[in-house]
Order: sequence, then C-alpha cells, then structure tokens
Amino acid sequence: MLIAFVLALIVLSALLFVGQGFFAWTAAAAIWLIGWRLTGIASPLLFESVTVVLIALAAIFGLPPLRRVIVSRLAMKAMSKVLPRLGETERIALEAGTVWWDAELFSGRPDWHKLLDFQPQKLTPEEQAFMDGPVEELCRRLDDWQINQLRDLPTSVWAFLKTNGFFGMIIPKEYGGHGFSAIAHSRVVTKISSRSVAAAVTVMVPNSLGPGELLLHYGTEEQKKFYLPRLAKGDEIPCFGLTGPEAGSDAAATQSTGIVEKRIVDGKEVLGLRLNWKKRYITLAPVSTLVGLAFRIKDPDHLLGDKEDLGISCALISRDLEGVEIGMRHDPMGVPFMNGPIVGKDVFAPMDCIIGGTAGIGQGWRMLMECLAAGRSISLPALSVGAAQMMTRICGAYATVREQFDTPIGRFEGIEEPLARIAGMTYMMTAMRTLTCGALDAGEKPAVMSAIAKAYLTDGMREVVIDAMDIRAGAAIQKGPRNSLARAWDAVPIGITVEGANILTRSMIIYGQGAIRCHPFVQHEIASIAEKNLTRFDRALFGHINLLARNLTRAKLLAWTGSRLADKPRAEDTARYYQHLGRFSAAFELLSDVAMGTLGGSLKFREKISGRLADALAYMCLASAALKRYHDEGKTTANYNLVRWSVETCLYRIQEALLGILENLPMRPAAFWLSWVIFPLGARFRPPSDKLGARVARDILEDREARINLTEDIFVPPAGEVGLGALEAALDKAVRAIPVETKLRDAVRAGKLERAPGYMLDDMGLKAGVITAEEYKLLQEADAARNEVIAVDAFTPETFKTLH
Ligand SMILES: Cc1cc2nc3c(=O)[nH]c(=O)nc-3n(C[C@H](O)[C@H](O)[C@H](O)COP(=O)(O)OP(=O)(O)OC[C@H]3O[C@@H](n4cnc5c(N)ncnc54)[C@H](O)[C@@H]3O)c2cc1C
Repeated sequence: MLIAFVLALIVLSALLFVGQGFFAWTAAAAIWLIGWRLTGIASPLLFESVTVVLIALAAIFGLPPLRRVIVSRLAMKAMSKVLPRLGETERIALEAGTVWWDAELFSGRPDWHKLLDFQPQKLTPEEQAFMDGPVEELCRRLDDWQINQLRDLPTSVWAFLKTNGFFGMIIPKEYGGHGFSAIAHSRVVTKISSRSVAAAVTVMVPNSLGPGELLLHYGTEEQKKFYLPRLAKGDEIPCFGLTGPEAGSDAAATQSTGIVEKRIVDGKEVLGLRLNWKKRYITLAPVSTLVGLAFRIKDPDHLLGDKEDLGISCALISRDLEGVEIGMRHDPMGVPFMNGPIVGKDVFAPMDCIIGGTAGIGQGWRMLMECLAAGRSISLPALSVGAAQMMTRICGAYATVREQFDTPIGRFEGIEEPLARIAGMTYMMTAMRTLTCGALDAGEKPAVMSAIAKAYLTDGMREVVIDAMDIRAGAAIQKGPRNSLARAWDAVPIGITVEGANILTRSMIIYGQGAIRCHPFVQHEIASIAEKNLTRFDRALFGHINLLARNLTRAKLLAWTGSRLADKPRAEDTARYYQHLGRFSAAFELLSDVAMGTLGGSLKFREKISGRLADALAYMCLASAALKRYHDEGKTTANYNLVRWSVETCLYRIQEALLGILENLPMRPAAFWLSWVIFPLGARFRPPSDKLGARVARDILEDREARINLTEDIFVPPAGEVGLGALEAALDKAVRAIPVETKLRDAVRAGKLERAPGYMLDDMGLKAGVITAEEYKLLQEADAARNEVIAVDAFTPETFKTLH
C-alpha cells in the first residue's frame, strides 16, 4: 500500500513537473489502485467502491462535455462574481500591445531557447552613419552649461536638429523622415542624453507619443501626406497635450472637451469642434506649432448621431487658431527643455482635425494606449541608460584619479560598494534596453516589458545617480561647467514621473496588465465569462488548473533540489542562474494564482501585493536580459563578473518580493502553506558577495576595455574640455603614473626613502635617484591633470546672481 502510494506520488510529480495534467492524475490513480489491490489490504468491496469513484471522477474531468455541464458551469457562475469589473478605458489599456518574453516568465517554465535564439536587430549602415555623423557633431556642439544659462538650446542647435532630421527619426523615408529602427532611435537619444538632458528631451518628444507617431499609425493618408514631411523637416514643432490639472495619472478623466457644432466660416457652413481645454506639463509646448490634443468629444445636438458622449479622441490643432493660449513655461527641476501649459478657450477647428478623420472619433484612448505600449520602451529607458553609462564612466575615472589618505578613493571598500552597483546596474539596464528595443524591431509591442523598462530603468537611473553623487561628493554638489553629474541629478525625478509615474506603473500597470495579458489562461477566462462562452471557459479553466498543478509541483521540487531539475541551456557557464530563474518563474505563477484566487477583484486595490508581484516579474525580466546580453557578447572576465552581479542582485530582489507577498497575503493559511512550498529551506539567495562586488569595481577601475565596453553608447568629449573630457585625460595620465608611484612606495618600504605624503615623495624620489627625470615628469603631469579635475567652479558674486 505504502509502496503504491509512493510510486503514485512519484509518477504524479514527474508527470505534473513536465506538464501532463490530466494524464498525470489518471496514471497516479491507476498505479495507486493496482498497488492497493496487490497488497491485499483492501476488502474487494472497498476497492471496488473507490475504483468506481475514481473512474467517475476521471470521466467527469476527462470528458469535456460532461465536465462542462457538471463543473465548469458552476465555476463560471462563481467566478463571474469575484472577477474585477473592468471599465472601458481599463479594458482598452489592458488589451493594448502584445506579450512576449514576459509571457514565458509568467508560464512557470520559460523556454530559454526562445530568448537565446532571438536575434535583436543591429544598426543598419545608414543608422550607424547617422550616429557617427550628425549625432557626434550635435554632441560636439552641445554645451550643457551654456544651455542651462541660456535656458534654451542655442538657435544654431535648433537649426542643426531640424536640418538633420532629428525630429523625424520615426517617420518613414517616403514621408521625408529617417525611418529608423527602435534600437537606432534609442541609441541616438542615449548618446545625446549623455551630453545634455535638455537636448535629449527635445529630440525625444517629437519621436515619441505625439502627432508624428499618432499620424503614422492612425492618420488618414491626406493627414500623413500633409503633416509628416513638415514634421520630419522640423517645419512643424509638435507637442502632445494629454495631462491636465484634473487628469494626471488618471488621464482618461480629462475634462477637455470638443463640442460638435456648425459654424459659418468664410461664408460657408462648417461642421467642427468647439474645443476647451487646460493642459499642463506639456513638453515643447512653448515653441510648438502643432498641438496634438486628447479630449472628449460631445455631441449634444446629435449632429453626428444618437450618442452624446463620443469618447476620447485625438486631434491636431494649429497654435495660430483663435483661442489657443500657448507660450508660458514651467521650470522642470531647472532642466531647460521647453515645457509649459496650454489653454484653449472656445477654439473652433473643423472635423478633419481629428486624427484618423471621422473613423478616429472616440478612438483616442485606444490610440494612446497602443502607442504607449511600445513607446515606453524607448525614450525614458534610453535616457536612463545614458545617465547610467555616464555615471560609470565618470565614477570609474574619478575614483582612480581622486586620492585621499594618499590612496585613490576607488581602493577603499566603502567606495567599491557603490562602484559595483553603478557598473552592475549599467550592465543590466543596457541589456534590458537592447532586449526591449529588439522586441519592438521584431514587430512586437510588448506593453508589460515596456512598462517594466520605463519604471525599473528610471528607478535604476536614480539608484546609480545617488551612488555617483556619493562617490564624487563635494565635486558633485558644486554646480558649474565642470559638473555634469549635478545636472543628471536634477533630471532624475523627471524620468520617474513622466509617461506614467513609477508608483502607479509599478503598483497598478505592470502586474495588472501582466496578470491578464501574460498569464496563459486568465484573459481567456475573463473573455469567455464576458461572452458567456462555456466551451471556451471550460478549456481555459482546466488549462489553468493543470498549469497550477504543474507549477505547484515544479515550485516545490525545484525548491527542494536547489533548482537543479529546471531547464537550462547547454554549454552556458551561467546555467545555474537560468535554473534559479526557472524555479522563481514557477513560484511566481503559483503565487500570482493564489493571490488572484484568494483576493479576487480586491487584488486590484491591494497595490502593495501587486507592486511586489511587479517587482518579481520585473527582476526576472532584467535578469533574463542580462543573461541574454552575456550569451550574445564575448565572454570576457569583466562580463562574467557583471552578469553574475546582475543576476544575483535580481534573484535576491525576486526572493525579497516573493517573501514580502507571503508575509502580507491576507489569507494566512494559504500564505503559510505557500511558504512551505516555495521556500521550504528558507530564504537562501543573498545579494552579490563583497568579493564579487570588489571584482566588478576593480574591472571598471582597472580594465580600460571593460569600462569602455560598458559605456559604449555615450559621447566622450575631447581631452581639452572640462568635465568628462578632462577626467578621461587625467585618468590616462594617472594610469601611466601608477608604475612610478609603485616604485616610490617600494622604495619607502625598502627604507631607501623616508615615509612622506605623496606630493613630497616625487621630489625626494628624484633627488635620491629612485626615479628618473622622465618618470618624475609623468608624475608631475598626472598631478597637474588630477588637480584640474578635482577643481570645482567658483563665480564672482555678480556672475553668481545671474546663474541658473
Ligand atoms: C517634465 C514633465 C514633462 C511632461 N510632459 C508631458 C507631455 O508632453 N504631455 C503630457 O500630456 N503630459 C506630460 N507630462 C505629464 C506626466 O505624464 C504626468 O505628470 C504623470 O503622468 C503624472 O501625473 P501627475 O503629475 O498629475 O501625478 P498624479 O496623478 O497627481 O499622481 C501623484 C502620485 O500618485 C501616484 N498614483 C496616482 N494614481 C495611483 C494609483 N492608482 N495607484 C498608485 N499610485 C497612484 C502617482 O504614481 C504619483 O506618484 C509631463 C510631466 C512632467 C513632470
């Protein structure tokens, strides 16, 4: 009997582990029954009764027509009561975009080959030429300190941007644009942002959600032919007004309206919209000539049909129309890109201003959600990667050049810690950017991954910039032309806030959309209940139950075996990391199902739970991106250290997120049982060790090639320029002087020279013949360069009063 039971359990586990749901249960029941009978423990009557019950259950669950009538109908009724009710705008937001690698992570058994076989698009020769030509030239022309003082880009830069088509990167060539890929677009923004955030934002906006993108996807041919060439050349400067005082995160609550009415214009009756709006925070608005506007169309006189509220729509409004008030500026953290309010008072525009013409009436929300599903992957992640790479480059150099206690500060363990974080985060963030842009270029619109990229890369930027500020300390605080770090610091909250503020994106959007879109069955369950389609519901429900059983088994077995049974790609030295992620994928899906099952519709409001679920999903994505990067790039020692740091950080953060859910899930028995399933041996993942952190820090301090590879997207100014240019030159000189400094130190240790501060040792060494005149010169040059880069700016009181 016992043997039969154990055998049945093994068969059940093995089959469930590989996903054979119904077959697994039936096979296990059969083995158990046979074993029971053979041992002779059971009386024939009991044996027969149990057999009949099991056959009946097998028939009910194994025969869909029977199952539908007996089980699924009741389940459908029960579930329809607990499922969250979705409003129209919520439904559209959830349905926008596609699912991709995120769905694999949600399955509990990610197919690593799908990730590793995927080939992200590379820059075309034309895109590369644009990077090497106009982008380099633009960066050379940008002087961020000057831009700060001017409170605008210089006129020559505006002209350069227009003539070189920077505002038409996403516009196809047939309309006069560049028609660039997502990765090219992202890399252009990254490079510019490493030079000037104000310039990067100026380039970003016409290429992201706004008139250009909306026209491309939804404009009528007439609208495209008229506006797109003008936008590509910069003859029109666009902006897009969605946010208003009443409608921030809840953008669908807009009170901007367009009332359908007829007016006599130039002696002719024209059907149009009387628009009233108050928008704020609108980027490029003060200089914009073409305003993209989101508003609600109302038709109280029923000029278009029976309905009065026709829904959110998007239109293009010229700034010259009567009633448009535009030109005032906000001051976003002192970063001087154009940003300001726009007000419209009884502005009349003909119906053809609606994007998509009459077919676009009421389609605005869908348009915006679809564009954001893809667009969130580009602008702000690109900006964040630019900041992270810049911090790596600056801090790697500064920590070598800056000496305290006669030692480069990078040698102190206290500095090693933030340095490792900066480098590791930069590796992982760049990897995530490449992966999501690759997905876009492959034709996906990965809404959940885009939201993850937006929120977690801008948060990553904040982490990195805070660490960089601490490392550079006083020199990071004193503003002036030498200090580009402070300007990145100012810009951080902007990235956190725009395109969906991060708290909202983390706590609502990522898991909310992920649970419904990425989960293999939830969307089908919801849709089938709405359609009252019992057959579809039955298929989805039992698919879901099988998935749950499979992931329960997987989560448990993988936890007990240290993930060793999980799939891993062959010949990867990072194979164990793939296995741990496989384990967490199963645990995540299981926990997600239990959270949905026990909290039902109220999970929507349990944002601390859904936020942690978002963390787990996001760090699984980031870890996968880092592994993919390592797989695709050359396997250098520095890369190996970086991928290990990245994945170990992610595994630890996933564990913390899952533990946080288990500790706070309201249904305590379920949480207690799940803790036993998912973490039977306790919380065993640790953040990267001190040793690994030290290796990562050493790599960016001492391995020139590694440092350059990690920061390959940024602009490095010439040596003669204050800031990064001078720092790079000082680093070269400091590195050349290291052997001479070592010689002096060795002489002190051998008693040939007296112990003395570094600046005195040079002269003493020369006099004592420990170093040559040539070597002495190297030391003097390194000292001079060092003094130059540790200097900070100071201003006369008069100049100071004029500074921004
Ligand atoms: C510099 C800058 C440029 C911008 N450019 C443009 C532009 O060009 N066009 C445009 O239309 N808009 C633009 N915006 C607007 C931007 O997208 C909004 O600021 C943003 O969506 C948030 O709105 P809000 O600032 O009103 O915050 P609020 O909506 O007031 O939110 C306040 C806080 O509450 C959180 N929150 C809100 N709801 C929830 C919830 N359900 N659950 C959890 N947390 C929640 C938010 O995450 C946030 O932390 C810009 C903003 C800035 C600052």
